[in-house]
Amino acid sequence: MDHIRVGEARIHRIEEWRGTFLTPQQLFVGFDDRAYASSKHEIPAGCLHLEDDAIEARLQSWVIEVEGRTIMFDTGAGNDKIRPGIPVFDRLKTPFLDTLARAGFQPADIDLVVCSHLHIDHVGWNTVLQEDAWVPTFPNARYVFPQADAHYWDPKNRHLFPDMVGEKVNEGFFEDSVRPILERGLADLISGSAEIAEGVRLDPAPGHTPGSSTLMLESRGEKALFVGDVMHHPLQIFNPSWNSIFCEDAANARVSRRAVLARAADEEAILIPAHFAGEHMVRVQRSAQGFRPAPL
Ligand SMILES: [Zn+2]
Repeated sequence: MDHIRVGEARIHRIEEWRGTFLTPQQLFVGFDDRAYASSKHEIPAGCLHLEDDAIEARLQSWVIEVEGRTIMFDTGAGNDKIRPGIPVFDRLKTPFLDTLARAGFQPADIDLVVCSHLHIDHVGWNTVLQEDAWVPTFPNARYVFPQADAHYWDPKNRHLFPDMVGEKVNEGFFEDSVRPILERGLADLISGSAEIAEGVRLDPAPGHTPGSSTLMLESRGEKALFVGDVMHHPLQIFNPSWNSIFCEDAANARVSRRAVLARAADEEAILIPAHFAGEHMVRVQRSAQGFRPAPL
């Protein structure tokens, strides 16, 4: 599914990368075999290879057209970025901007960029390499970053966070994909909840990173909840206590995941995470055991 309507808003999926990515046993802290055995056959099609337990994943951004605004939510891994900590994203040359153009958008059309959190695979297309300098990809955009992440991931503050989980895997992203935006005065740093455009609300969902945020889109009574990496895979709908190995704060990540699932179920919002394969989005229902995915 590459575009849907939510009320009068339109959502377009811009895919940058696809492939298999670890097994649940490798990705999840708190994984347990019995819970996996009872949920794996109910996972939406296309998200899990049962023969070898490989997770099918996507790296995707979302363009939201609402009330005359054109918003990009998360900006992927980017091209030409040197990524020693995670070879799969090292010096990529993907046709992301061509994919964006096929969806109907030039970089100049984007007027707001929102990063759900500051991680290597959510900030990459903030900038492009131009004559050895990293410059903003979207010349007319303001950029919204969670304030807590801008503080946490700035290498200048490294000494304040001795227990950082993602230092190695995220090496380099701040200097090539965040600082160039900050230095040009193009970023709005958000803390707490904020309405960033008509019908578009950011709310804190800390844990995966300190500043992880969700975006609620509402138009004509219909809702979509973009959750970034609050969850990586539909298995976490059945098992919300399973954190990814990339979560910085385990306790808060679990609290935020349950809260987001409850909100999607109770407000009947389509749940749109960053990395789901299959249909890329789900509805969520409450069940006797907690939560379960439901058809769109
Ligand atoms: Zn991610």
